[in-house]
Amino acid sequence: MMKPWTDAELERLLAEPEHQESPLLPALQWLQQREQTQRKQLEKLLRIADCSDGLARSQTQDLLGQYDKQLRRLEKITRISDRYQHNLMALNEQLKQAAQQDPLTKLANRRLLLARLGEEVERCRRGTKPFVMVMLDVDYFKRINDNFGHETGDRALCMMAETIVQQLRGYDLCARWGGEEFLLLLPETGLEQATHIVERVMAAVRALRLAKDETIRLSISAGLAIYQPDENVDFTISRADAALIQAKNNGRDQLQVALA
Ligand code: GH3
Ligand code: MG
Ligand code: MG
Repeated sequence: MMKPWTDAELERLLAEPEHQESPLLPALQWLQQREQTQRKQLEKLLRIADCSDGLARSQTQDLLGQYDKQLRRLEKITRISDRYQHNLMALNEQLKQAAQQDPLTKLANRRLLLARLGEEVERCRRGTKPFVMVMLDVDYFKRINDNFGHETGDRALCMMAETIVQQLRGYDLCARWGGEEFLLLLPETGLEQATHIVERVMAAVRALRLAKDETIRLSISAGLAIYQPDENVDFTISRADAALIQAKNNGRDQLQVALA
C-alpha cells in the first residue's frame, strides 16, 4: 500500500523547483485542491449528521420522559378511582343495611320483613308448605323503663333480640315490628314445629338476666297465625296480633294460636 501523504508533504513536493516544469503539475495541483474541498464538505456533512443524531436522541429522551410522567399520573388516577369505587361500594352496602335494619337491635326492620313476606306468599302459591307469623310483645316493659331507666330498657331490648334470634333456624326471620314488639316469619313450618320454636324463644327470654344481681324478670307473650293460602298477609298479621292480645288478657307470658 502507498504511504499516505500529509497535506504539508504534498505542498512541499509540488513546490520543489525541479517539479515546476513538469506537465503533470497543474493536474496534480487541481487534484489536490479538489481533494481538499471534498474533504471539507465531508467533514461538514459528518458534523451535521452528528448534530442531528444528538437532536433526535434528546427529543426521544424528552418524549420518553413525558410518557413516563403521563404513565405515573394515570397510575395515580387509577389508584384514586379504585379507592373511590371501593368506598362507594362500602357506602352502598351500609346504606342497604341501614334501609333494612333496626338501628338499636340490628334486627331486620319492617321493610325487610314485608319484602320477605312477599317472597313467602309467592312460594306458597307454587304449592310449598304455608309459613307461620308470630307477633311477640314484651310483658310489662314500661315498668323496666320506669324502674331502671330508658338505657337499661334499650339494653334489655337488644339482649332479647339476640336471644330470640339464637333460638330460630337459619332461614327464619325476626324483625323489630315496633317499640317492644317483634314479628317472626317461620317459612315452611307446621303448627307443631312453630309452637315448639316459640316456646323455646319464650323460655330463653325468661332465663335472661340483665345483670348478675338484678331481679328483673323478662317475659314475652306471643300470638301465632298460620298463613292461609290466598289470604292477604295483612290479615295474617292482624290475626297474629289478635291472638297476642288474647295471650295478654289471659295473663301474659304465654302463646295463643289464632283461628284460621
Ligand atoms: P304489656 O305487657 O301490656 O305489653 O305492657 P307494656 O308495659 O310492655 O306495654 P306498654 O305498651 O304500656 O309499654 C311499652 C313500653 O315500651 C313503653 C315504651 O316506653 C317502651 N319502649 C318502646 N320502645 C322502646 C325503646 O326503643 N327503648 C326503650 N327503652 N323503651 C321502649
Ligand atoms: Mg309490651
Ligand atoms: Mg307493645
